[in-house]
Amino acid sequence: AKQNGRARWMMFDQTMQEGALRRLTLEAELRLAVDAGQLYLQYQPIITPQDGVIRGFEALLRWRHPVLGMISPVEFIPVAEEVGLIVRIGGWVLEEACRQLCVWQQGRDLPLSMSVNISAVQLAGGDLVDTVTRVLAESGIAHGSLKLELTESAVMADAEHALAVFKELQALGVRLSLDDFGTGYSSLSHLRRLPIDTLKIDRSFVSAMDSHGDKRQIAEVVVMLARTLGLDVVAEGVETLAELDILREIGSDFVQGYFYFRPLDGAAATEALAEQGAQ
Ligand code: C2E
Ligand code: CA
Ligand code: CA
Ligand code: CA
Repeated sequence: AKQNGRARWMMFDQTMQEGALRRLTLEAELRLAVDAGQLYLQYQPIITPQDGVIRGFEALLRWRHPVLGMISPVEFIPVAEEVGLIVRIGGWVLEEACRQLCVWQQGRDLPLSMSVNISAVQLAGGDLVDTVTRVLAESGIAHGSLKLELTESAVMADAEHALAVFKELQALGVRLSLDDFGTGYSSLSHLRRLPIDTLKIDRSFVSAMDSHGDKRQIAEVVVMLARTLGLDVVAEGVETLAELDILREIGSDFVQGYFYFRPLDGAAATEALAEQGAQ
C-alpha cells in the first residue's frame, strides 16, 4: 500500500510539474505571439431569432502556435491576465475588431455591432477608457456600434470602480454588456445603477433548456428583469432548434450559438454577411 501511495504521489507530482511547465511555456510564448502574428480573431454572428438576420458579431480571440497548435482562450487568457499581458493583447483585439467592423459597415444600410470581451484586469487597470477612445478615433466606426462585454463577476468584484469607468465609456457613446449573466452575484441595486445596455444569458442556462424547466424559468426571469430595466437580452450558446424556439417564445432579443453559426474566420464571416445581403 505504501508503495502504491508513493507511486501515486510521484504521478501527481509529475502532473503538477507538467502543468507548471506548460504554464511557463505559454507565458514565454505569449509574449511573442502578438508580434509573431499568431493571434487572430474569429467572429460569431449575433442574430435576431425572429428573422435569423445577423445584427452583429462577437470577436473571439484565437492563438495558433506553430508547435503547440491551437490553444484555447480559456487556457491562455488567464495566463495573459496574471502576467499583465492582457492589456496589450486586449488593446490589439479592440483595434482589430473595430477595423474589421469598419470594413463590413461600408456600403451597408443596416447597422452592425461588434462585441469585444474585456477582461477584469483591463477594467481594473487605468487606461481602458483611453484605449477605447484612441481605437474609436483610429477606426472611424460609429461609437454606438462598439459593445464591450464584461462578465458579471468582473463588474461586481469592484462595482463602484466599474460604475465610474462605465460612466466614462457611456459618455463616449460605447455600449456595455454584462456577460455570463446569472453565474455571478449581481445586486439588483448595482444593476439598476450601472449604465449597461445588454444582459447576456450564460450558456449554462440555455444548454438543454427544453428539458430543464428550471433553466427555462431562469432565462424567463432574466428577460423580465431586462425589460424592467430597459435592457436588451442576448442568449448565448444556442445549439438546437428546441432551445431557439423557447428563446423566441420568451422574447430574447438576440441569440448566438452553433445552431446558426460557429465562430467564423474573417473571410467566412464576410461571406455569411454577403449571403444575407443577397436574400
Ligand atoms: P465567452 O465570452 O462567454 O464567449 C462565448 C464562448 O462560447 C466562446 O468560446 C464561443 O466560441 C463559445 N460558443 C458560442 N456558441 C456556442 C455554442 O452554441 N455551444 C458551445 N458549446 N459553445 C459556444 P471561446 O471562443 O473558446 O472563448 C471562451 C472564453 O474566452 C470567452 O467566453 C471569453 O471569456 C474568453 N475570450 C475570448 N476572446 C477573448 C478576448 O478577446 N478577450 C478576453 N478578455 N476574453 C476573451
Ligand atoms: Ca463574451
Ligand atoms: Ca458569455
Ligand atoms: Ca459563458
